[in-house]
Amino acid sequence: MYDLAVELYPLPRSITGEGTRETLRRIRERLPGLVIHEVPSGTEVFDWEVPPEWNIRDAYVMNDAGEKVVDFREHTLHVVGYSVPVNREVSLEELQEHLYSIPEKPDAIPYVTSFYSPRWGFCMTHRERERLDEGTYRVVIDSTLEPGSLSYGELILPGEEETEVLLSTYVCHPQMANDQLSGPVVLTELARWLQEQPRRYTYRIVFIPETIGSITYLSRNLETMRQNTVAGYVVSCVGDERRYTFMESRLGDTLADRVTRHVMEYHTPGFTHYDFLYAGSDERQYCSPGVDLPVVSVLRTRYRDYPEYHTSLDDLSLISPVGLGGAYELYRELLRALEWNRVYRTTVPCEPRLGPRGLYPTIHHPSHRRGIKDMIHLIQYSDGDHDLVAVAERIGMPVSWCHEMATVLVEHGVLEPVAGGSPATPSDPASTVRR
Ligand code: ZN
Repeated sequence: MYDLAVELYPLPRSITGEGTRETLRRIRERLPGLVIHEVPSGTEVFDWEVPPEWNIRDAYVMNDAGEKVVDFREHTLHVVGYSVPVNREVSLEELQEHLYSIPEKPDAIPYVTSFYSPRWGFCMTHRERERLDEGTYRVVIDSTLEPGSLSYGELILPGEEETEVLLSTYVCHPQMANDQLSGPVVLTELARWLQEQPRRYTYRIVFIPETIGSITYLSRNLETMRQNTVAGYVVSCVGDERRYTFMESRLGDTLADRVTRHVMEYHTPGFTHYDFLYAGSDERQYCSPGVDLPVVSVLRTRYRDYPEYHTSLDDLSLISPVGLGGAYELYRELLRALEWNRVYRTTVPCEPRLGPRGLYPTIHHPSHRRGIKDMIHLIQYSDGDHDLVAVAERIGMPVSWCHEMATVLVEHGVLEPVAGGSPATPSDPASTVRR
């Protein structure tokens, strides 16, 4: 995962253009089933429109001594994203109107874009900006904004059921590590793992430009996704080692919310929890009224929560194999929990006899009591209404244990999965067991 991040780091990504397309091609080398779709500029997507395609070859600011004081080839963040082309001489005073820096972070190049109003600009460290002398500067941005297309990648992994799990990440930020490359590299590895697994659910895995990409994607797939999606995740900012973060869906009570809260309480205790008012990525589109998919976000340190966010300081030293690996493991736990989450019921009224089935120790010893008690609790809440995650929460055991125990109890004829087995949805108040 880390090596792929290193490889993708310098590509000049934006919401459209060759940098993003090349990023998708490199991901496709690891995921040969990935389909790269192109949506033409000008296509209406709900209340929006696919913008012209932006491509950039070179950009710099040169002083009158012929030195490049800002050079796109040294860092792609040096140019305001979607800058219109320019090639002329300006005074320092005029140049200043087109420069962006952060006085409080004098060594950081900020990430600045202007997708929907045509302008040009350069970003630089405040320290270098303060060193600019009076004089004449040549500003060159060799870019094009022309009819083209918006590119996104899609991989559908069919399962036993048509019901789907959505996994979405974005590929539109330039040279940054945690808030850009961590998401696609973790999702690529998760997709490679999922490909090898027996799958109950169908997995819809998308690599899109943020916001306009999810709007475009939803405009083409909304009906199917509304019908089939049981849970979804926006995979973003998953590369550092500082913390784990859970961001709820808009209403906070979907299957994705319940599963995530439960798994993280066991797997990453002490995680940071945000409600939807703090959402900032594609969950804003997936959860919006009229779309309302059960989508949450699981992150390491969330965008906006770390000082390097949206600057050149969010570099490859901020993410690590350990950070990426931790997120990858957590996501595997979440997806396993979703796959395990069935509704069970007992095969007989009243308590089934466990002794004759070999499930009850014939000698009573205090050390056996807890395990037996938990097994009996699991049986008591296997009522055909509550899914395994709701039962796990109620009896205070991890869903992984409940899954193993339910499998044993099914083998011994004590429990049976409810036909259809689809988990309770938020509209079904039975999904939560009252304590
Ligand atoms: Zn961002």
